[in-house]
Amino acid sequence: MLAATELAPAAERPMLVASDIHRHFEGLHAVDGTSIDVPAGKITGLIGPNGAGKSTLLAVLAGTLPATSGTIVFDGEDVTSSPAYKRARHGLVRTFQLPSEFARLTVLENLLVAAPKNRGDTLLGALRGRSYWIEDERRLVQQARALLKRFGMSAKESEYAGTMSGGQKRLIEIMRALMLGPRLLLLDEPMSGVHPKIVLEIQHYLEDLRAEGLTILMVEHELHMVERLCDTVVVMAQGKVIGSGTMSSLRRQREIVDAYLVG
Ligand code: ADP
Ligand code: MG
Repeated sequence: MLAATELAPAAERPMLVASDIHRHFEGLHAVDGTSIDVPAGKITGLIGPNGAGKSTLLAVLAGTLPATSGTIVFDGEDVTSSPAYKRARHGLVRTFQLPSEFARLTVLENLLVAAPKNRGDTLLGALRGRSYWIEDERRLVQQARALLKRFGMSAKESEYAGTMSGGQKRLIEIMRALMLGPRLLLLDEPMSGVHPKIVLEIQHYLEDLRAEGLTILMVEHELHMVERLCDTVVVMAQGKVIGSGTMSSLRRQREIVDAYLVG
């Protein structure tokens, strides 16, 4: 279980407001004046054809890719010029594909190295000495084991991450992000390459996280999943938002169906 203090209170204002975001690659306007509000405590879906700019937008929101222009306000604070690690410290966290060298770490080690630099690395930690550091490590191991238990992966903690299935790797990616105590979690196709049985598992885990107050923004291409899981949906095409609302309201809008299907 995540500690209640790590989660956002249900607030009326959006957890994140991104305004007029542009991200250009040379002449290509991958994100071309996108504005998006992410409501607190909900799962927002981000859909659109291949190349619409969804992944680029997520990377810009997380701060792993700088915006060409635009502003990003997270939980009332302008984070536009904050580096990704500072945004993560505030609770704005994205998942990353497991780097290939992490295949040779165990599942538990993968979670431990995801944690922010522990206090043992600080001057204070150094002055207080080893017992202080060990206490920190112990706390992280407990946190990692609690996540492994919750995600049904306790039995795998000592196995190498490289031997895990596609679905288990996706779960490790999510757990690594949760080690940072996010309040807004950004997910880019968290169910891609996953066995249908695990897809349902991931769906339930995400629903549980939402029930505890975590806010989620996720890119997902499978529209039935979006319909089941997402409270609200934003549609992107060619770098722009072309609509938003519930999936059923979007399905009734001809031009959105056309843009999405035609690309
Ligand atoms: P989506 O996730 O919606 O499929 P992307 O955000 O990955 O779309 O890509 C949007 C556009 O930006 C595409 O045309 C893609 O080729 C281009 N693009 C993405 N990343 C880069 C990059 N690092 N360098 C150049 N072009 C990129
Ligand atoms: Mg993408």
